[in-house]
Amino acid sequence: AAKQYGRSRFCFYDPALQQAAEAKNALNKALSNAIEQGEMRLHMQPIIRLSDDYVAGYEALIRWQYPDQGLLPPNHFITIAEESQLIFRLGYWVVEEACRQIRAHDLKIWVAVNLSPRQFNDPQLVTRITRILTDHQVPTSQIELEVTESCLIDDVDRAIATLEALCQAGFSISLDDFGTGYSSLALLKQLPVSKLKIDRSFIRDLDEEDRQIVEATTRLAHTLSLSVVAEGIETERQALILKDMTCDYGQGYLFSKPKPLSALTMHHGLSGAKAVANRQNAS
Ligand code: C2E
Ligand code: MG
Ligand code: MG
Ligand code: MG
Repeated sequence: AAKQYGRSRFCFYDPALQQAAEAKNALNKALSNAIEQGEMRLHMQPIIRLSDDYVAGYEALIRWQYPDQGLLPPNHFITIAEESQLIFRLGYWVVEEACRQIRAHDLKIWVAVNLSPRQFNDPQLVTRITRILTDHQVPTSQIELEVTESCLIDDVDRAIATLEALCQAGFSISLDDFGTGYSSLALLKQLPVSKLKIDRSFIRDLDEEDRQIVEATTRLAHTLSLSVVAEGIETERQALILKDMTCDYGQGYLFSKPKPLSALTMHHGLSGAKAVANRQNAS
């Protein structure tokens, strides 16, 4: 019925939509303020090499320290930021903050940073991101960029060119939430990525079917000279099964929740010591 009255008129006068739009505007303003006020936090979650429990790197995950309301997780604000220019400020703040932390803690291992589709498609991406690393004197090889399949599907040729430019600049790329999107094997073969991150939905139950999928994916990845990260490992059982499947890396609450880097110094401070010894601290 809406259509026959003309879409825009309908939308404009719909009070519920109007309200939603206002709420979104308010959130946008608050978020813009939050970046200036220093309310954003970048937590780190260890990524463990399963063969020897070595902490191989960290994934940087953003949170919003909203006054009086604790830490807001990214799904509360990333999608809204993604609808405006704010995603660029947020996205480049994350890269800068990751660099600051690398320097402040003298980290030697890599830090993975998530790129949203809109940021990935920023024509200035390569220039801006390389500039940030130069300014902070962090080698590009120390930053890994996580992209999802949704970053790539709009314009595959352009996406490949961007990935190639990023690789050329020294970044490594991982394909996040793998298995949940639309990418074909033909695409995967062309992509200059170095890791696949198998989505948590395949790891959660790890039933017979999931195990087949994860094992086949791991074999495929290794055939293409990619390594594999399993997301969302919460139990020793999952870790053991994945290790047996020669899955290279694991990430999840079993090892550690995302935390401020200062709370994780027992991991990288031991540089090479076994993270497993710290699992009692993993809560
Ligand atoms: P993601 O990149 O797939 O990140 C993994 C998510 O799984 C994180 O949620 C992490 O806290 C959560 N996780 C890790 N291990 C476990 C586990 O064992 N069990 C469970 N249940 N969850 C686990 P988080 O931090 O809420 O982030 C959600 C999503 O928000 C991320 O998914 C990513 O897509 C996005 N995001 C986070 N930080 C950023 C950022 O700085 N920039 C952009 N563009 N997106 C971000
Ligand atoms: Mg990620
Ligand atoms: Mg993921
Ligand atoms: Mg995910």
